[in-house]
Amino acid sequence: MKINENFLKIQSSYLFSNIAKKVNAYVKENPERTVIRLGIGDVTRPLAPAVIKAMEKAVSEMADEKTFRGYPPEYGHDWLLTAINTNDYLSRGVKLDNSEIFVSDGAKSDCGNIGDIFSVDNKVAVCDPVYPVYVDTNVMSGRAGDFESNSWTNIVYMPCTEENGFLPEIPKEKVDIIYLCFPNNPTGMAITKDELKKWVDYANANDSVILYDSAYEAYITEDNVPHSIYEIEGAKTCAIEFRSFSKTAGFTGVRCGYTVVPHELVRGNVEINALWARRQATKFNGVSYITQRGAEACFTEEGKKQIREIIAYYQKNARTIYEGLKDCGFTVYGAKNSPYVWLKTPEKMRSWDFFDLLLNEIQVVGTPGQGFGPSGEGYFRLTAFGSAENTDKAVARIKEYFCK
Ligand code: PLP
Repeated sequence: MKINENFLKIQSSYLFSNIAKKVNAYVKENPERTVIRLGIGDVTRPLAPAVIKAMEKAVSEMADEKTFRGYPPEYGHDWLLTAINTNDYLSRGVKLDNSEIFVSDGAKSDCGNIGDIFSVDNKVAVCDPVYPVYVDTNVMSGRAGDFESNSWTNIVYMPCTEENGFLPEIPKEKVDIIYLCFPNNPTGMAITKDELKKWVDYANANDSVILYDSAYEAYITEDNVPHSIYEIEGAKTCAIEFRSFSKTAGFTGVRCGYTVVPHELVRGNVEINALWARRQATKFNGVSYITQRGAEACFTEEGKKQIREIIAYYQKNARTIYEGLKDCGFTVYGAKNSPYVWLKTPEKMRSWDFFDLLLNEIQVVGTPGQGFGPSGEGYFRLTAFGSAENTDKAVARIKEYFCK
């Protein structure tokens, strides 16, 4: 018996587990202090009433023999696929067939599982800093090489820095799989349609596949920023898109997302859609009926209005953090199209040192940029997902400590 030794290569535990360990240790030692958590990107507002109503109705249906349901269809109920298709795509001029949409338990699983359908020989490119799941899942599947001088030998890192406006540059060497996430986690920066078109053209010219994570599209406020990669001409022949109800409708604890794999995406004469369908049918058994009814309710007029209000609440928090820190002399990015604020640590402090300083001195928890990749060193992420009250308090504590 041999284990998958790739798992031994992963240097440390998952970033957010490390943060949780540090915070828990601090809380244990300092029970009298109140810690404000603006670290992990988890929502705090309750589900929209329209979602609750739909889920309660679904629960009642499950209690009645006549309306009880067993296994759901593995790719999602047609009524949810149609609601997603109509509201998230057709409304933006993107025509999809329902068979191109796969409902799942969230974007994290899909971003991680998608690697199953691609050869381990593919060259992978990621933004740096990056949502850690893209890198770690490629390490697990043996696609990343070895960890040397702070990075993986077989992964192409595309630095997103102040100098390039936090937008990756097209790699000089040929890459096969490109992970793009916009609006970006962790930098909070968005990509314009013109910039994204360059990536679509590159991928089509090089037979690459773009894995486009738009988990934060609901936070976009600017017109020239695409919500879906399929708003870009040519994207259907080179891109897979991941979406989530987590940050849009507060489903982090409910679990629902979806992935779009267009039929036009063909590599080596094989429709990638068929591979993903096969993968999901074998390894995934669908999202619960109750959850899918809740997701469907997000697209009702009532649901849309309530969800917009929740997003506006977080957007206001993002502005509070951004403006508060800026007033205080910090260099800050993000917030405009995103629930994240990406700040430069003062005096080039290392990001984990800044984490310790904020925790120990003012009991505010954020995420050290270094945890998202080598180019994240010297940066720090704060999220807008806390309560307005805690966000105001955290900003006040930061101002009091740093605005001297
Ligand atoms: N993609 C990005 C970029 C994220 O930041 C997150 C969560 O933080 C996810 C995906 C996970 O989404 P889900 O809750 O749908 O698994």
